[in-house]
Amino acid sequence: MRNQDLNKQRIISSQGEKKLLVVLGGGESGVGAAILGKQKGFEVLLSDKGRVAQKYKDVLLQYHLNFEEGKHSENKIFKASLIVKSPGIPDTIPLLLKLKEKGIDVISEIEFAAKYTTATLVGITGSNGKTTTALLTQFILKNAGINSGIAGNIGDSFAKQVATQSFENYVLELSSFQLDGIVDFKCHIAIITNITPDHLDRYEDDFNKYIDAKFRITKNQTASDYLIYDADDETINTWLQKNSTKATLIPFSLEKQLAYGAFIKDNNIIININKQTIQMPISTLSVKGKHNTKNAMAATMAAQLLKVRKEAIKESLENFEGVEHRLEHVAKIRGVEYINDSKATNVNAAFYALECMDKNTVWVLGGVDKGNDYSDLLPLVREKVKAIVCLGIENDKIKQTFGNVVEMIVETAGAEEAVKVAQKLAESGEAVLLSPACASFDLFDNYEDRGRQFKQAVRSL
Ligand code: ADP
Repeated sequence: MRNQDLNKQRIISSQGEKKLLVVLGGGESGVGAAILGKQKGFEVLLSDKGRVAQKYKDVLLQYHLNFEEGKHSENKIFKASLIVKSPGIPDTIPLLLKLKEKGIDVISEIEFAAKYTTATLVGITGSNGKTTTALLTQFILKNAGINSGIAGNIGDSFAKQVATQSFENYVLELSSFQLDGIVDFKCHIAIITNITPDHLDRYEDDFNKYIDAKFRITKNQTASDYLIYDADDETINTWLQKNSTKATLIPFSLEKQLAYGAFIKDNNIIININKQTIQMPISTLSVKGKHNTKNAMAATMAAQLLKVRKEAIKESLENFEGVEHRLEHVAKIRGVEYINDSKATNVNAAFYALECMDKNTVWVLGGVDKGNDYSDLLPLVREKVKAIVCLGIENDKIKQTFGNVVEMIVETAGAEEAVKVAQKLAESGEAVLLSPACASFDLFDNYEDRGRQFKQAVRSL
């Protein structure tokens, strides 16, 4: 049965009425799902327990979509044939439990959108590096003239783009929450950048549940699909030993030489897949750091599988400008380099940032701790960090862990104060690194706000 026929069956009930699609959550993905649902012939109700932001209200009005805010009207919602749930809403809220009891299907926006496109999908998940790898992949594809959109956690929602664009390929950044809500979703190329503990609050503090959520990316893949993964990551290797996937496995590694996949030899990246070899010096990559070498390997292999020529890939890797708030160079002031890595919201990301530092560093960290265990950072902190500036409300764990390791720890309550203190502590030839290892919600709206305030404070020094 063709997709279109399938769709018709789903949206027309036996009495010939339109079926009701209820979209829970009025953010980017919810509004996109509502637009696509209407276009495909559903009657749509978008329901948000909180307030819908004005910019999304404007879009809902523009597309003549029904919505409610400040409540979930259960009498209406229970009439739905299908529910699309935004990734921010946990499965455990009472409404979702009731929907489950009633046997009403609840899927994610990604699942919903994928039903209505025949584009080739590159899905990227992992604890860190998703955005960078997705943007890098898209950059390579675009430069090579490939008709490709980028969606998922980036930019316009996947559903909205499926409704309004006609891309032949999509690069999708996929969080574990988005993958939780998939049923038939399948990507031709899946990438798992790495898996380290994060968001465990949403997985009953069970790391295995979070790992399983990430691996859902491969659950519907077939033998003609690919799974690109970090072969240095023990968590990933263990899962692959214990479970199976039909996809062709393509590993990348900084530590071991591989017959198939990507690895390092004599400071060169060597990539060997599908009877083609690419070799390029690590030094020619525009983005720096071991983690970015891995991201580049993953993006390159995805592009190769989509038949991009190696010359075009190399050129893109030399020219990619990096991503805001990820090890972003802000300024050099009186010999001190300031780096904004506000997106480092967990310990692993901060680990890679510290690993990249090649000078004495004043490290700005702190915020909302998601159950952090800082012990992995101790050797790097001993080696590279001269002082710590806390930028958060609750700093006891930081003080306890690093109190005996660095000479000075100063607590601050805002970006401007943190930057001023850091400036006093750093000497010419040293660096100030904002890589918080924590979420930002105690003092800032989000990590972007934190990064921007940090940059603003640096630029006003
Ligand atoms: P995500 O979208 O998964 O959150 P980002 O690309 O936004 O990932 O990067 C988040 C943080 O992780 C940044 O601090 C960045 O420097 C760091 N990072 C990027 N790639 C990796 C990687 N492969 N491994 C570990 N940390 C990474």
